Amino acid sequence: MTLRFGVVGTGAIGREHIDRITNKLSGGKIVAVTDVNQESAKQTVEIYQLDAVVYPDDKALIADENVDVVLVTSWGPAHEATVVAAVEAGKYVFCEKPLATTAEGCIRIVEAEMKQGKKLVQVGFMRRYDSGYVQLKQVIDNNEIGAPLMIRAAHRNPIVGENYTTDMAVTDTLIHEIDALHWLVNDDYKSVQVVFPRKTKYSHDKLQDPQLFTIETNSGIVMSVEVFVNCKYGYDIQCEVIGEEGIVKLPEFSSVVMRKDEKLSTGILNDWKFRFMDAYNVEIQDFIDSITKKGEPEGPTAWDGYIAAVTSDACVKAQQTGEKEAITLQERPAFYNEKELQTV
Ligand code: NAP
Repeated sequence: MTLRFGVVGTGAIGREHIDRITNKLSGGKIVAVTDVNQESAKQTVEIYQLDAVVYPDDKALIADENVDVVLVTSWGPAHEATVVAAVEAGKYVFCEKPLATTAEGCIRIVEAEMKQGKKLVQVGFMRRYDSGYVQLKQVIDNNEIGAPLMIRAAHRNPIVGENYTTDMAVTDTLIHEIDALHWLVNDDYKSVQVVFPRKTKYSHDKLQDPQLFTIETNSGIVMSVEVFVNCKYGYDIQCEVIGEEGIVKLPEFSSVVMRKDEKLSTGILNDWKFRFMDAYNVEIQDFIDSITKKGEPEGPTAWDGYIAAVTSDACVKAQQTGEKEAITLQERPAFYNEKELQTV
């Protein structure tokens, strides 16, 4: 069986997913595309030599009975309407983050999905498919380090542009840790507080950089997460989980070790795409395989999208108030209880 994808949004990540589904993965093909910029949609069909219909909008694409899956890669504020319409039409959805820009929007998607009586939606949190995170998760789930007590994490980019503002440290950057960390420890968040250390001279007026988030979970795990987006030296993702009986840490990205000029050195990446390239491939392949073999996606759910939205709002509020802010989730519906299934 080949899953037939309709793509809404043919920008950067839309094209990357089209390329991987068409040229790298198995079991999926692109049969339809749309973009508010119709030229971009047409160009995409030409560049990737797709046998695909270009639709004027998402509604027409969703209505195509040849489309099994709607791949949502438009800009964030447009996601909710497309996802709700696709779910109401009974289509599977792979939606890049954010699922919706508000918690209420995520709940509307959750309700639409529950009405259909089966899981249809997966959110594009690809960290869960990175081999390092998968290994961390296995160590924790196998109880090899005992109960997790603390997490130290860092998300560092070499540089960001002038349009990147303080809140984007949460909505564009920390959002990946927000999803990955509660998944790692199977716990929900309780509160967050933000501290702004001395600001780097490489930042600008509208960006406080770096930032330090202290996030506490319901069981009392304390997570200290640094976001530093003008760190200069490279793209670097760190995560160390401190447990009662041991400590486990993400592996360093594999690179040759060089001995030269009285120095021992290894490379550091400078772009998130290279760091998570394999994870994106595994993520979309798993989405295709789960639907094909089991009838529903098994990755991050619409409920995970909701958790991310609520937590993200609390983190932005904590940036503004400097206080410890509560992270208050609605009760998890039984429909979304199979949290442990989300490993690859
Ligand atoms: P992008 O290059 O700006 O692409 C978005 C595309 O969608 C643009 O062509 C845009 O057209 C189009 N678009 C906007 N509204 C639309 C609508 N209502 N219907 C159809 N097309 C619409 O952005 P991107 O970098 O690909 O990001 C897309 C999404 O993926 C964002 O939500 C982003 O957060 C997410 N993302 C996730 C990851 C990850 O690590 N998981 C990485 C990158 C991006 P115009 O340019 O004309 O507005």
